[in-house]
Amino acid sequence: MAHDFSDKDLAAIEATTLEVGRYIFEHRANIRPSVLERRWWDDHIMSWAMQDESVKVQMFRFVDVLPMLKDSASVTRHLHEYFHDVRQHLPMAVRLGLAVATPDSLAGRALAIAARRNATGQARRFIAGANTSEVLAAAMRERKLRRAFTLDLLGEAVTSQREAESYLQAYVNLITGIAPTVNAWPEVPQIDRAELPELPRVNVSIKLSALDSQFDGIDPQGSAQRVSARLRTLLRTAQKHRAFVNVDMESYACKDLTLAIFKQILLEEEFRDLVDVGIVIQCYLRDAEADLHGLLDWARQRRRPVWVRLVKGAYWDYETVHSQAQGWPVPVFQEKWQSDANFEKLSRLVFANHEHLRPALGSHNVRSLAHGVALARHLGLPPGSFELQMLYGMGDQEKQVLADMGHRVRIYMPFGELIPGMAYLVRRLLENTSNDSFLKASFTDRIPPEVLLMNPHEVAARERDSRRLATLPRAPAVVPAANPFQQTFFNEPATDFAVEANRGAMHDALAAVRDELGRHYPLVIGPREADTSERMPSVDPSQKQRVVGTFAVAGVEQANDAVAAAKAAQPAWHALGVEARAEYLRAAASQMRDRRFELAAWQVYECGKGWREADGDVCEAIDFCEYYAQQAVALMGPHGVDVPGEENRFYYLPRGVAVVIAPWNFPLAILTGMTAAALVTGNTVVMKPSEQSSIVAAKLMEIFRALDVPPGVLNYLPGKGEVVGAALVEHPDTALIAFTGSRAVGLAINARAAEVSAAGDVVKRVIAEMGGKNAILVDDDADLDEAVLAVVRSAFGYQGQKCSACSRAIVLDSVYDTFLERLVEATKSLQVGPAEDPGASVGPVIDEESLVRVQRYIDLGKREGRMALAVDIGELSQKGYYVGPHIFADVPRASRLAQEEIFGPVLAVLRARDFSEGIALVNGTDYALTAGVFSRSPANLARAKVEIMVGNLYLNRGITGALVGRQPFGGFKMSGIGSKAGGPDYLSQFVIPRTVTENTMRRGFAPAAGELDATADERG
Ligand SMILES: Cc1cc2nc3c(=O)[nH]c(=O)nc-3n(C[C@H](O)[C@H](O)[C@H](O)COP(=O)(O)OP(=O)(O)OC[C@H]3O[C@@H](n4cnc5c(N)ncnc54)[C@H](O)[C@@H]3O)c2cc1C
Repeated sequence: MAHDFSDKDLAAIEATTLEVGRYIFEHRANIRPSVLERRWWDDHIMSWAMQDESVKVQMFRFVDVLPMLKDSASVTRHLHEYFHDVRQHLPMAVRLGLAVATPDSLAGRALAIAARRNATGQARRFIAGANTSEVLAAAMRERKLRRAFTLDLLGEAVTSQREAESYLQAYVNLITGIAPTVNAWPEVPQIDRAELPELPRVNVSIKLSALDSQFDGIDPQGSAQRVSARLRTLLRTAQKHRAFVNVDMESYACKDLTLAIFKQILLEEEFRDLVDVGIVIQCYLRDAEADLHGLLDWARQRRRPVWVRLVKGAYWDYETVHSQAQGWPVPVFQEKWQSDANFEKLSRLVFANHEHLRPALGSHNVRSLAHGVALARHLGLPPGSFELQMLYGMGDQEKQVLADMGHRVRIYMPFGELIPGMAYLVRRLLENTSNDSFLKASFTDRIPPEVLLMNPHEVAARERDSRRLATLPRAPAVVPAANPFQQTFFNEPATDFAVEANRGAMHDALAAVRDELGRHYPLVIGPREADTSERMPSVDPSQKQRVVGTFAVAGVEQANDAVAAAKAAQPAWHALGVEARAEYLRAAASQMRDRRFELAAWQVYECGKGWREADGDVCEAIDFCEYYAQQAVALMGPHGVDVPGEENRFYYLPRGVAVVIAPWNFPLAILTGMTAAALVTGNTVVMKPSEQSSIVAAKLMEIFRALDVPPGVLNYLPGKGEVVGAALVEHPDTALIAFTGSRAVGLAINARAAEVSAAGDVVKRVIAEMGGKNAILVDDDADLDEAVLAVVRSAFGYQGQKCSACSRAIVLDSVYDTFLERLVEATKSLQVGPAEDPGASVGPVIDEESLVRVQRYIDLGKREGRMALAVDIGELSQKGYYVGPHIFADVPRASRLAQEEIFGPVLAVLRARDFSEGIALVNGTDYALTAGVFSRSPANLARAKVEIMVGNLYLNRGITGALVGRQPFGGFKMSGIGSKAGGPDYLSQFVIPRTVTENTMRRGFAPAAGELDATADERG
C-alpha cells in the first residue's frame, strides 16, 4: 500500500527518480529533430503561433472549422474573418498573402490549398492514419522501434443509438480486421511479453459514452444496460481474437458510471477471468485516490488483475469552467503540482499492489515517468510488469530513450477521418501550448532539467515563496479596467444527478410526495382558507388515472373577496419598507432550497416534468426571489439630485393590487417570479395559477404562509381562466396584471385591461409574456455534433412545451441532408416515458386537450411537409397523454406548421439557400422570442447579432434554459408586452415613479444638500 513506503523508502525513490530523469534528459538531447525533418518546421510554426495568445486562439478555431469548409472560396473567407482582427500580430509575409487573396482569386485559391495542407500536416503529426491499413503501417513502424500500440478510433460525438451501434461495429471490424496480420508479426519480446506469459498485441482504447447516445449519470441503470450490451460484444470479439480492451476516462460527469460499468461487467461469469482489460484513473481529480482504492478492493475480490492507466487528465479546462458555471464544486485540483503529486502518490499505490492492479503510466512528463521507473526498481519489479504509455506524435524523444532502456512503451494511436480528427488535433495543440504543460516547459520555454525534475512538493514550496515575494510592496501595478458586465448575482446551482446521493434524495422525495397525492387544497383569501362548492382534480399526465390533488374552484365572488383582501392589506405592506419585503423573498428562497427535491417531485407528478427540468424550475424560482430582492432594494430607495436651495427626490411607489396569472409549464418558477416581483415592490397579489398546476401553486402559497406574510398580501385563487381570471382582470381595483401564457389569452387580457370601467380610476398595467415560434439556424460551417444535440434538446426538452422551445430548424442547403439524417436518428434515440423515470427524456404533454391539439398539427404536418420522423409510443398512450417526437422536413416557410406555435414535440425543418435567406426565415413569423444560430463564421455570427430580431438570441448553444440575471428572458412582437423577466428593468414595471421637488430656501438661507429628512414615501 502507498503508506507502506517509509521515509527512507521515499528518499531512495526520490534519488532514483532524479537519476532516471537526468538519464532521460541527457539521452533525449541526442535525438533533436534536424532542420531537414518536417517536425522541426512544425515545431517552429507552432512556437510562432504561441507567441501571441490572440493568434493562437484564432488559429485553433480556424483549424477546428476547416474540415467543414467545402471549397477554396469558403476557406479564404474564413481565413480573412479569423485573422483580420489579429493581422498586426501576423508575420509580414502572411499579412501580405491575406491582403491579396480574395476568396475568388487565384491567390485566394492558393492560400486555401496551403492552409489545408498545413492543417492536414499538423493532424498527421498526431493522428496515425485515416483507415486501418494506414494505422497498421504506423503500428508496424512503432514495432520496429520496439514500441507497442493501442488504437483509438476517433469518432464524431455519438448523437444516436445508430451511431453508437456503428461505432461499436467499427471497433469490432478493427479487431477482426487487424488481428490476423498483427498476431502473425514476428515476436518482439520487449513489448509482447509481460510478467504474464504473453500480452495481446492488438490493443484498443474505447470511450464508453460512445457506446450509448443516452449515456447519462442521471439514469445509471438504463445507461449501464445499453452500454454493457455493446461492451459485451466488444469483449467477446477481443477474447476471440486475443485483443486487449482499455476503457478510457472522459469528463467527470461520466466517471462514476464508467467505473461502475467496468466493474459490473467484469464480475459477470463470462468475463470474470478476463485479464486483458484496463481502465483509466485521472489523477487531477480530487476523487481519484478514493476511486483507486475502490478499484483495488474490487480487484482483490475478483482475484484477477486488471490494468490501470494513470493519467493526469485531458479535460482540466473544461472541468474547471463547467463546474464554475454550474456553481458546483470544482472536481479537479487547481494547482498543477497537486496533479503531479497525486500522480506520484497513486503510482505508489498501484505499483505496491501490482498483482491486482497492473501499472500503466500515461504521461509525457519526464519526472512523472521517472518516478514510476524508480518505484519499479525500488520494488524489484521487472520492466515487463508495467507500461509507459504516450500519445502518438508527442514526446518522441522520451519514447525512444525509454524503449532503449528496455521498457515497454505503448503508443496511444488515434486514427480516423478528418472531421473528428481536427477536434482531436485542437485538443492536442491546446495541451501542448498550455502554460502548465511539461512539454511546453521543456521544449518551448527551455526550463532546465533540474527544475523540471523537481519533486512536486518542492515545486509547491517554491511557488508559495514566489507568491510571498509577489505580495511584498512594489511599484503600483496597472489596475485592470473594471468589467462592466461582471456577474454580481449568482444563480442557484442545479442538482448534479450524476451524484448518487442526489439521485437518492430525488427518489425519496418522489416516494414521500406519492404518499401525499390526492389531498384537497382550498383557496386562500386574506387570513382564511376558503372552500367552494366546485372542486377540480389535477391529474398526473404521465398516468392519467392518478389524481395529484383537488383544489377549490374560485368564482367571481371569491375574485371580488380576494381583490378586496389584497387592497386592504396593501398600504401596510408598502409601509413595511423594501428591506423587510425583500427579507420575505429571501426567506421564501431559503424554504424552497430546503424543500427543493420535494417541490421538484410535485412538478414531476403534476406537470410531467422530468427530473432535471423540475429541478431547474425550482432553482429558477429561488433565483427570482433572490434576484428581485437584490434589485428592489437598489430600485426602491430614494434617488435624486440636490442643488443648494432645492431638493429633488425621485422614487417609486407600488401600483396597488397585482393579479398574477401564471402558466403550468414552469409551474413554480414563473408563478414565483411574477409574484415575487409584485410583492417586493410593495404590491399585494392575487395568484391565479393554471388549472393544470394549481397544486404546485398551493405549495408556493404554503411557503409564504409559513413565513407569516400578513393576511391579504398574497391570495391563492385557482379556478377557470375564463371565469375567475376574467373577473380579476376586469376588477376596477386591479392595478396590474402580470400574465404568462398563450398569445390569444395575452391579447385578450390586454384588450380587456384597456377598458376603464366607471368604478375604476387607473389604466391597468399589463405585463404579458406570450408565445414564440423559435428557430435555430444551422450554417454550412456549423459544428453539426453540437447543432444536432442542441436542436434535439431545445425542441424536445419538456416535450417542446417551453415558450423558448425550438420549433423550427432552418438549415443551409449544403448541410441540410446530413443534418436532417443525424437529427432524425438522434431524436429516435430519445426515450419516451413517464416523467418519474429518470431515463425518460421525453414525457407526456400536459393534458388531453393539448394532446388533441398537437395531434392536429401532426396531421397538418403530413399535408404541409414531409414526415421525417414519428416516434411511436406504443402502449404508453393508454397510460397518459403521450405523443412521440415528430419531425417534418421541407416545410414551406408560409405554412401553418412553420408559423403557428404548437407547444408540443413537433419540429419543422426548413431549407435555406444561404445565410441571408436563413436570417429572413428566422425573422419571418409574428413572434420574436428566442432564436439560435450555429455557425463558425465570425462574420455570420456578427450579422446574426444585428439582424435576427428576437428577445433572446443564442449563438452556438441551445435556446432554452435562460438563467435569471444572466439571460433576462422575454420577447417582443407577438411574444410579449413589457420588459424581460429576470432582468434589470423588470421591477420598474411594477411601480409608479414619482418626483418631489422642494424649495428649501427660506429668506436666503438654505440647509446643506441632503440634510432634510426623507419623506415617508421614500420607504419604498
Ligand atoms: C497514453 C495516454 C492515454 C491517455 N488517456 C487519457 C484518458 O483516457 N482520459 C484522460 O482524461 N486523459 C488521458 N490522457 C491524459 C491527457 O490526455 C494528457 O496527455 C495528460 O493529462 C498530460 O499530462 P502529462 O503528464 O503528459 O503532462 P504535464 O504537462 O505534466 O501535465 C499536464 C496536465 O496537468 C493537469 N493540469 C494542468 N494545469 C493544472 C492546474 N492548474 N491544476 C491542476 N492540474 C493541472 C492537466 O491534467 C494537464 O493535462 C492520456 C495520456 C496518455 C499519454
